[in-house]
Amino acid sequence: MELPGGLPWGGVLHRSFRFKPVTGRLELTLGESGWSARSHPERVTAVLCAALDLLGDENGVSMDRVRSLSVGDRQFLMRRLAAHIDDRMFWLTAECPECREKLDVPVRHSELPVKPAGEGYPEAALETSLGLIRVRVPTGADQEILAGIEDDDLALRALLERITSAADAENGTTGVDVSALSENEVTSIEARVEAMAPEVASSLLVTCPHCQRENKVPIAPYACLERPVGELFSEIHQLAFWYHWSEGDILDLPRSRRRLYLNLIDRTRGMHGARPFLEVG
Ligand SMILES: [Zn+2]
Repeated sequence: MELPGGLPWGGVLHRSFRFKPVTGRLELTLGESGWSARSHPERVTAVLCAALDLLGDENGVSMDRVRSLSVGDRQFLMRRLAAHIDDRMFWLTAECPECREKLDVPVRHSELPVKPAGEGYPEAALETSLGLIRVRVPTGADQEILAGIEDDDLALRALLERITSAADAENGTTGVDVSALSENEVTSIEARVEAMAPEVASSLLVTCPHCQRENKVPIAPYACLERPVGELFSEIHQLAFWYHWSEGDILDLPRSRRRLYLNLIDRTRGMHGARPFLEVG
């Protein structure tokens, strides 16, 4: 499995990645990442740092690398992570705006469409009134900075300043005075970036079985951040109660092994009949 875009690092585009096995610790990080992160992009960075075992090459996964990934690659990784944790089929539901009937769409995270990066990714040259400029696709680092800017116009300006550069023969690359760009030029920068950037589907086209209308049903790219962790705590509690293992030891178990022990506990409790939980054993 490879990134649809790739991580530009050390002059090379790296596309390999691998996730760690699913343990309670990883599930807990997913659930609790929202408590400490200041913004959504920071949360995604923290989760990917915790979940990835390899990004690019064997030199490890660093926060810098995860931040340097393009937005589309980060969304792709979050969707792959959702599939890595649980790739069972689930139902997307929506209401048809035409006939008001309920639409149920069976979905699997791993089967959702992905648009690969376009030609030239992650950077392109564009002729403007300010001369030839280079423009690159936005990254996680850009998103983290933009998350702190509330005003939309200021955010767009900050983004344009970050993703553009001018080739200057004497000084290497220099910044671009983005306030001097015309509206049309800004539109062509956006179009160029969109053509280059990889993308994961944010909606599915579904034909209503009742009125045949084509509907766009939205699907969140960061669904795995919404997984509840309550069940994990109850599983930790059961294992600690029966085996007297520490919380840390239980969190380190691969999920498959944790489930296996929980099944054994259920079977043992079954053999003791339907006595109240606290009397068993
Ligand atoms: Zn309908």
